Amino acid sequence: MVRIAIGGIHIESSTFSPHLSSADDFEVTRGDRLLSRYDWLTAPWAADVEWVPLVHARALPGGAVVPSAYEAWEAEIAEKLAAAGPLDGMLLDFHGAMSVVGRDDAEGDLVTAIRSVLTGTPLISAAMDLHGNVSRVLFDACDLMTCYRTAPHVDVWETRERAARNLVDALRSGERPHKALVHVPILLPGEQTSTRDEPARGLYARIPSIESREGIIDAAIWIGFAWADQPRCQGAVVVTGTSKDEVAAAASELGGHFWAARDEFTFVAPTGTMDECLAAALSETAKRPFFISDSGDNPGAGGADDTTYALWRMLAHPGVLQRRAVFASLVDPAAVAEIAGLPIGSPVSVAAGGRIDGRDPGPVRLDGILEAVADDPDGGRCVSVRVGGLSVFLTSRRMQYRLLSSYRNLGVDVSEADIVTVKIGYLEPELFEAAGDWQMALTPGGVDQHLARLPYEHVVRPVFPLDRDFTADLTVVIA
Ligand SMILES: [Zn+2]
Repeated sequence: MVRIAIGGIHIESSTFSPHLSSADDFEVTRGDRLLSRYDWLTAPWAADVEWVPLVHARALPGGAVVPSAYEAWEAEIAEKLAAAGPLDGMLLDFHGAMSVVGRDDAEGDLVTAIRSVLTGTPLISAAMDLHGNVSRVLFDACDLMTCYRTAPHVDVWETRERAARNLVDALRSGERPHKALVHVPILLPGEQTSTRDEPARGLYARIPSIESREGIIDAAIWIGFAWADQPRCQGAVVVTGTSKDEVAAAASELGGHFWAARDEFTFVAPTGTMDECLAAALSETAKRPFFISDSGDNPGAGGADDTTYALWRMLAHPGVLQRRAVFASLVDPAAVAEIAGLPIGSPVSVAAGGRIDGRDPGPVRLDGILEAVADDPDGGRCVSVRVGGLSVFLTSRRMQYRLLSSYRNLGVDVSEADIVTVKIGYLEPELFEAAGDWQMALTPGGVDQHLARLPYEHVVRPVFPLDRDFTADLTVVIA
């Protein structure tokens, strides 16, 4: 019987977003509810494992986490580990790009706190998002590390299972794995690194053949997280295995390929200003529904979810209001509360958005009719306000309209729309399938895709693409 603890804090949080993530933004699971997240606990490879649930907290991406929330969960994890008795391993289930106010390397701090209470040297295996960061502290404290291999992420549960299975296998073998790290001095927006497109597709496609080599357990590539101003933010490759030479060679190889591809990363869709994207959507040749990503305020990357710039441009465009259009969405619980109780069809005049991220133009007045009211599992109470042909969705909690069912919930079938503007970066699979065409508007916001516009002070320089004329130090760290 081997005993493995499971826990973690999962959030991707931007230090450039004025939003702050508090304990209320997290779904927290403990005990059997935590264990029920994992459907592989009864798989044959997991027989004879006693899983010890600690605490798991998970939130939608947002702004930096308030210190009290982080500190409470760190303390709870440490206390439960100290009380758990002898452990053989720990599975860390987290994202890797958690920013906490006042900290530069939250996951590094968390794993340091964990190591300080563990007795002996149980193996730690981390399952992460490829948009997470691998600091030297995190690398040193973990024995196994892996991350998603797809973006959009369709291998989330596969990744967690792989991290758990590799941990169990290593414990059964009795051998502590070797590991190799290469930092790749690159900062890239996720919207240039979809694995649906080159060069990320080809880069990640190298992993299976490397993993099948004798002496290799796992190979992983982190794109890293560009929207935090921290020294740890950059790309990374970690390879783990039973052969020191093989893991070092493979990490060097993958790190070299990642660096060599740096100039080939381009946006996954045509980009432009919001006005340019609207002009394209209104052109005679546009294929409907024409999707526009309001990418600078993508809540899926940490945007506040309430910048009004893109909506303001839509409302200013008579051509948009004459067509069937959708804007999804703004979080504004006060605006929702103000009108949700009115009869459907009521005329309304309500100021919306711009309360969290108040950058220009700030709150926008919607003069229209109340078109629909619905409750959404993510957004809470939601309303749709119709202005001309434009339906504007307002939500009570931050959410992302990435599922067609969320649109239908407010009475909209996107296949009947001419233009759909959504706060997102690359289109998630259902929207990608539904889109007749798609452009990404490089709108202002806390997750501005135009990295050169962000006020970086603490990332380690030189780093591509902020710096271009330098030779990368791709030294392999072996342990
Ligand atoms: Zn991600």
